[in-house]
Amino acid sequence: MSIEEKGSISIHTENIFPIIKKFLYSDNEIFLRELVSNAVDAVQKIKRLAALGQYNGELGNPLVEVAVDEAEKTITISDNGLGMTAEEIKKYINQVAFSGASEFVEKFKDAKDANEIIGKFGLGFYSAFMVADLVEIQTLSYQEGAEPAKWVCDGSTEFEISAGNRTSRGTTIILHVNAESEEFLSKHKLEEILDKYGKFLPVPIKFGTKTVQEPDGEDEEGKAKTKSVEVDNIINTTNPIWTKAPADLSDQDYLDFYKQLYPFSEDPLFWIHLNVDYPFNLTGVLYFPKVKNDFDMQRNKIKLFSRQVFITDEVKDIVPEFLMLLHGVIDSPDIPLNVSRSFLQADSNVKKINSYITKKVADKLSELFNKDRKAYEEKWSDIGLFVKYGMVSEDKFNDKAKDFALLTNTKNEHFTLEEYKEKVKDVQTDKNGQVIYIYSNDPAKQDSFIQSANKLDYDVLLMNSAIDNHFVQHLEQKLEKTALKRVDSSVASKLIDKDENVESVLTEDQSKQVAAIFDKAINKPGYTVEIVGLNPEELPVTVTMDEFMRRMKDMAQMGGGMGFYGSMPDSYKVAINGNHKLIGKILKAENTEEQGLLAKQAVDLALLAQGMLTGAELTAFVSRSVELI
Ligand code: ADP
Ligand code: MG
Repeated sequence: MSIEEKGSISIHTENIFPIIKKFLYSDNEIFLRELVSNAVDAVQKIKRLAALGQYNGELGNPLVEVAVDEAEKTITISDNGLGMTAEEIKKYINQVAFSGASEFVEKFKDAKDANEIIGKFGLGFYSAFMVADLVEIQTLSYQEGAEPAKWVCDGSTEFEISAGNRTSRGTTIILHVNAESEEFLSKHKLEEILDKYGKFLPVPIKFGTKTVQEPDGEDEEGKAKTKSVEVDNIINTTNPIWTKAPADLSDQDYLDFYKQLYPFSEDPLFWIHLNVDYPFNLTGVLYFPKVKNDFDMQRNKIKLFSRQVFITDEVKDIVPEFLMLLHGVIDSPDIPLNVSRSFLQADSNVKKINSYITKKVADKLSELFNKDRKAYEEKWSDIGLFVKYGMVSEDKFNDKAKDFALLTNTKNEHFTLEEYKEKVKDVQTDKNGQVIYIYSNDPAKQDSFIQSANKLDYDVLLMNSAIDNHFVQHLEQKLEKTALKRVDSSVASKLIDKDENVESVLTEDQSKQVAAIFDKAINKPGYTVEIVGLNPEELPVTVTMDEFMRRMKDMAQMGGGMGFYGSMPDSYKVAINGNHKLIGKILKAENTEEQGLLAKQAVDLALLAQGMLTGAELTAFVSRSVELI
C-alpha cells in the first residue's frame, strides 16, 4: 500500500538522535527495559479496559514476546495489548516525545546518565534508537473498526505512517540493530538483560522456546514414557511475593523467594514485609542477612522496582545508610522508571520512604524482642551491628532502639541499657556519682585485665564488633552520668575512682629505688613506670594505655584528622604493685644484675599476658626463661 502520510517529528532541532545516542551510550541496554515495559503497560491497559466494560472483545492470554533474528539483524518486541491507531501514533510517539526537545538541547550537556535524560524528556520509546538505525511499529488498535498502522523512522526526524500488516490486536516493535550494537543480537545477551529487568514483570514474557519432557503413555512393559515437546520459554514470575498479602504467605515462601534472589546465600535471619499506600505507594520485602565480615560484598543487595520493572540496585538514597546491608526488594510506582541520582536526592517522597523504612525496621525489631527475648538474643550477634549502626547514625531510630538494643558482657549475658545500669550501678559508681561501664574489645588479649576486674565484682562488656568504637562514644553521649573505660586502660582497682586508697608498704626511698630498677630493665621509649599501692593479690606489673590517649590514637588511625596524635609514639603506663611480694623480693635481691633480671622478667610476663610481647623480644624472653629454669 502507498504511503499515507509523511511528516516531520515536531522538534526544532534538526537531528536529535545522534545526540541521544551519544549521551545514552553507556547504559544502552535499557532500550529493552523501556520497550518491554511499554508492551507490558499496553497489556495491562487492555485488561483494565475489559474490566471496566469498555472492551468486549477477546482478551486472549496476555503475552509479550521478545524475539531475535540474527540473520536479519532484528529484535522484535510484540504484545497483545491495546494497540494504537495511526492518530494515536502521531499523538503519543511523534509529538509527546519531543515536546521538550528545545529544552532537551539546552540541557543535555549537564545530563549525567541516560536515565536522567530519558526520565526528564519522556524518551522511553526513543531509547530504541540507541541500538537501532531503523525502527518500525506495526500496530492494531482494540477500537472498533480500527485499521492496522505502520510507522517507520530511520533515526532522522523524518517518519512515515502507512497501512500496517498486523491482523490481531496489539503492537510489534521491530528494531533494525545498528552495526555498533550487534552484541544485542546474541540470545544470551538478551536473556541476561531480560532476566535483569524483567524477572518479575506482571505479564508473561516469552523469549524463544524450550524443550520439556511430557508423559507419553506407557511402553510394552508398562513403564511410563515421556516425549520431548517445545513450549514457550517464559522468563518471568508474574506474581512475586511482594505483590501478595503477608497473610497469604508462609515462611517457606519468603525463604524460597530469598533463594531466588540470592541463589548462593545462607538463609536470612528474618524479614519485613513492607506495604504502604499513603502518602506514597510502596511494597517490598526486606531481609536481614547473616552478617559476614566482608561488608562491601553485601552492599547493593536491595533491588528497586517500579511496578515490577527492575530499576536499579543502587538504593543509596531510598534506604537509610545503616540498612544498606539488608537484602530484598522495594517496589514503588512513585519512583519513575527512569529514575536518576539527582531525582532521588531531590524527591520528597524518597525522604518519606526513607523514614518509613527506618520506622518499620524498628517496629519489627521491637516486636521480635518483645515476643521472644531468647530467640532475639540468639540473633543479636548478627543484628546488633545494624541496630548499633542505626542508633549511632539516626536519632529517630535511636529513640526506638534504646529499648531493644542489647549490651553483652564477657560471660555472654545480654542486658538492655536499662537493665545494665541497674546491674552495675551499685558496684561501679565512682566518687563523683558517675557510673563506669568497663568494656573489652579483645577478650583473649585482655583476659588478665578482665579477671582482675571480675575479682572486684566489676562487669565487663564486650565491644568487639566493627561499629563498637563509635557505639562506645554514642553511649557516653546518650547515657546520663555514665562513662566507658576499656578494661586495660588502667589497673583494675583504679578503673573506678572510689577514693579508697590501699597504702603502699614501700617507703619513699624504696619506691624510688624500685622505679629506677624497672626503668632500667624496660629501657624503651614511651613507657612510664609508676609505683602504686594495690591489693597484694593483684598482679605485680600491669602495662596499660590511658583511655583518653588510646581513643585519640584510634581516632587518628581512622582518619579523624588528629594528625598530632597520630604521629605520637605509643605511650604506656607500667604500674608496679608495691604491695606485691615480688617487689619485696626484687629489693632484697643479691645484686643489681639479679634485680634487673627479675624486673625484666616481670615486665615481659605482663606484656606476654596482653599479647604485646612479640618478635626478638619474645625470643629473648623465652631463652632467658629457659635459663632461669
Ligand atoms: P511512556 O511509556 O513514559 O509514556 P514512552 O516513550 O515509552 O513513554 O511511550 C510513549 C507512548 O507511546 C506510551 O505512553 C503509549 O501511549 C505509546 N506506546 C508505546 N509503546 C506502546 C505499545 N507497545 N502499545 C501501545 N502503546 C504504546
Ligand atoms: Mg515507556
